Amino acid sequence: MGATRRPALRVAIVGGGVAGALLALRAVTAPAAAQVDLFTAGAPGQGDASGVSGGLVRGFEAGTDACRAAAESVAEIRDSAVLRDWTGYQETGSLYVLPDGGETEGPVAVLAAYLPGSAEVIGRDRILRDFPFRTLPDGAVAVVERHAGHISPQRLRTAALREAVAAGATVRATPVAVVTPGPSVRTADGGEHPYDHVVLAAGAWTPRLLTRSGLPAGGLRTKQIQYSVGETPLAGLGSFVDENSGLYGRPYGDGAFLLGLPTDRWDADPDTVRPDASLAERVERCAERVLGVPFAAGRTVAACDCYHDTPGLLLRRVGPGLHTFTGGSGGAAKTVLSASRTAAATLLTST
Ligand SMILES: Cc1cc2nc3c(=O)[nH]c(=O)nc-3n(C[C@H](O)[C@H](O)[C@H](O)COP(=O)(O)OP(=O)(O)OC[C@H]3O[C@@H](n4cnc5c(N)ncnc54)[C@H](O)[C@@H]3O)c2cc1C
Repeated sequence: MGATRRPALRVAIVGGGVAGALLALRAVTAPAAAQVDLFTAGAPGQGDASGVSGGLVRGFEAGTDACRAAAESVAEIRDSAVLRDWTGYQETGSLYVLPDGGETEGPVAVLAAYLPGSAEVIGRDRILRDFPFRTLPDGAVAVVERHAGHISPQRLRTAALREAVAAGATVRATPVAVVTPGPSVRTADGGEHPYDHVVLAAGAWTPRLLTRSGLPAGGLRTKQIQYSVGETPLAGLGSFVDENSGLYGRPYGDGAFLLGLPTDRWDADPDTVRPDASLAERVERCAERVLGVPFAAGRTVAACDCYHDTPGLLLRRVGPGLHTFTGGSGGAAKTVLSASRTAAATLLTST
């Protein structure tokens, strides 16, 4: 008798943002490939995080695990002509400024392993000499990375969905109404579909989908993210984050920059989120104070993302056969390539 082949696992993925699209692609192209159905709500990009994401990518992250996922993702993009095309990767470099005592040693060791020769730690005097910063607190340090920049998560999502379908995944343009452990998916049109695994990758809509299904939100909640794009004479800076002022940004084509500050708008509704004009004005004032340049917010973009108590785009079990794949807390674009591979491997080997 010949060896019996285990039938392909039936996996439903809810949400076609960059997280759901990459997870679908990883799962359908894995050696023990799954049979994947991906459920979307409307046209990809309508108000979701992946459609408007700033796309800053770098290796440095505060925690070692997050740093490993980010560095592995950048390394994967740089090593692959296909991924450079799918992501539209622009290597502008990155500057990450920390306050006095900011921990760099662990993450920089991770960067040395994944992106050799990319990262260097510099002190306050060199930041002020080599970069257009006007004010910094005493003791500030920065991680400078050569191999970093920005990508288009929208472009990556589009490519991943296309390739997942080419590899055999099915995209169902039907929103999911509720999910049940077991697991199964009930669609808005009343259909009930059983699977071996159901993964909620619905970004900022995930907590609501869980509670609507009678399940706890499991440490997940939403938060508004907002940035502005405007013309500015700012030069000599690639992607950057300044933890001291909160300002972050990246070049945005000729003579323009994307600049943002963190919001405190927790539990915002992803369907009704609107730009906060006072925050856009604060960004203008902060750019003037920290970088010494005029910045006029021409266009302001706001959307929600899904945050977790322990930040990170990870597969989290919420019931038998039921998982979430979200919680990237405003940073999943930079870790999604690595996180989706790990999540698919975990999913396809779990029973
Ligand atoms: C303004 C902004 C700027 C950002 N900038 C950066 C950055 O510079 N660098 C970085 O690394 N990260 C950044 N992020 C974070 C990153 O973009 C997000 O973490 C990432 O895009 C989240 O992808 P996702 O697929 O989890 O969610 P989303 O892209 O929000 O996708 C979720 C999808 O699920 C669908 N959906 C919802 N409910 C249902 C349902 N019931 N049935 C079926 N489908 C459903 C939605 O329609 C949506 O398409 C930013 C985020 C925002 C909002």
